[in-house]
Amino acid sequence: MALMTAKEYIESLRKLNTRVYMFGKKIENWVDDPMIRPSINCVAMTYALAQDPKYADLMTVKSSLTGHTINRFTHLHQSTEDLINKVKMQRLLGQKTASCFQRCVGMDSFNAVFSTTFETDEAHGTHYHENFKKFLTMVQDNDLTVDGAMTDPKGDRSKAPHDQADPDMYVHVVERRPDGIVVCGAKCHQTGSVNSHWHIFMPTISMSEADKDWAVSFACPTDAEGMYMIYGRQSCDTRKLEGCSIDVGNAKFGGQEALVVLDHVFIPNEYIFLNGECEFAGMMVERFAGYHRQSYGGCKVGVGDVVIGAAALAAEYNGVEKASAVKDKLIEMTHLNETLYSCGIACSCEGCPTKAGNYQIDLLLANVCKQNVTRFPYEIVRLAEDIAGGLMVTLPSQKDFESDTVVGNNGETISEICNKYFAAHEGVSTEDRQRVMRFLENMCLGAAAVGYRTESMHGAGSPQAQRIMIARQGNIQGKKQFAKDVAGIKD
Ligand code: SF4
Ligand code: FE
Repeated sequence: MALMTAKEYIESLRKLNTRVYMFGKKIENWVDDPMIRPSINCVAMTYALAQDPKYADLMTVKSSLTGHTINRFTHLHQSTEDLINKVKMQRLLGQKTASCFQRCVGMDSFNAVFSTTFETDEAHGTHYHENFKKFLTMVQDNDLTVDGAMTDPKGDRSKAPHDQADPDMYVHVVERRPDGIVVCGAKCHQTGSVNSHWHIFMPTISMSEADKDWAVSFACPTDAEGMYMIYGRQSCDTRKLEGCSIDVGNAKFGGQEALVVLDHVFIPNEYIFLNGECEFAGMMVERFAGYHRQSYGGCKVGVGDVVIGAAALAAEYNGVEKASAVKDKLIEMTHLNETLYSCGIACSCEGCPTKAGNYQIDLLLANVCKQNVTRFPYEIVRLAEDIAGGLMVTLPSQKDFESDTVVGNNGETISEICNKYFAAHEGVSTEDRQRVMRFLENMCLGAAAVGYRTESMHGAGSPQAQRIMIARQGNIQGKKQFAKDVAGIKD
């Protein structure tokens, strides 16, 4: 089957019986819901750009499984060049949407599950790798969006899955049948869950023999019987319901997270990728996290490009673009953003093949990449706020700028007063000024801050998770030896 167009992708979602709840109610037509639609538009951009000949090299690639042309979001990376192109593609999408475009979690799970199932089969004589290849071929041929679901609620963090008072705190097998398994549990803050055709579930931590029933990975359709989602709300999200697109800041695009619940969902054998081989849970987690930490060196950089651009526009509209202090802040923002990109590219260049044949990033550098992402976007938005000025949070609403209610002694309307007092640099409309201020507000502390700030902190693992990996991969012993050699210290 050919690549889907953006329109076909949106229409394909209507065919699913996905169960979505928001504000305490079931949402029937969630595809057209004004709270949800911007996040769908964002995934749709991954389809739209793949149709554009200008971006064909970045967005499409030959499948290693079928030889067909596929969207890169469904690809198994075959070289370091593929890994680099992945990061460049994500930067491009970030620039076009200024949001989380959600489809990367699937791509990162494909690459992690592909290599982990190969090694699990090697050790246990299981057939998970074949299962996965068949599944991924179906995904590639139909150009599907798949959610990579990893983060369990975790309950009491001091306890292992089998020790939890409520066993559902981690997704687990509750019944084994000859034809498959029945699973229960949930995954929290799942990016793009509602907008995906299928889900791949993976464990979220390393597991021991006692956690066997929790060491499980599988694919299931998003509208599987027993599965439903409770939509996550975002800061200022109900602005999308007010009919003031300027006040939303980025009315067209947005991210999406949801709580995904599995209430006795049956998984046929052919969609199982791990089922009790607990020593491979950690490998799957580490690889998925590694790929997603690389991803942030692309997507957040693209969004950063838009934030820097908006800050520069705000300076221009305020008439201060030539001020050396402003120029220096823009330099600093660029330096921070390009440092993140350098990390994304570096961990890709240093990638190597797995036993299964697909390419994996350098894990140490991917973790350094994500560790920087937990910090630099915060500094970038701090500088953006500094440049923009307080107006980004004190500006009256779009309705005021359009209101013909008379307030002045000479019959001036609210609109005229707002337009008079919020005029700045000659030739710049107050509407453009509103747009850039509200965009920055959205990025720095509105709905988009979910993706640009807090997701930079906690997405793909919180900072401490990267520090653990950096400690593991940092080779301090080897570095001690360097010091001994140079300093002439003999053992
Ligand atoms: Fe992709 Fe970035 Fe969103 Fe993760 S946070 S799904 S890498 S856009
Ligand atoms: Fe993410």
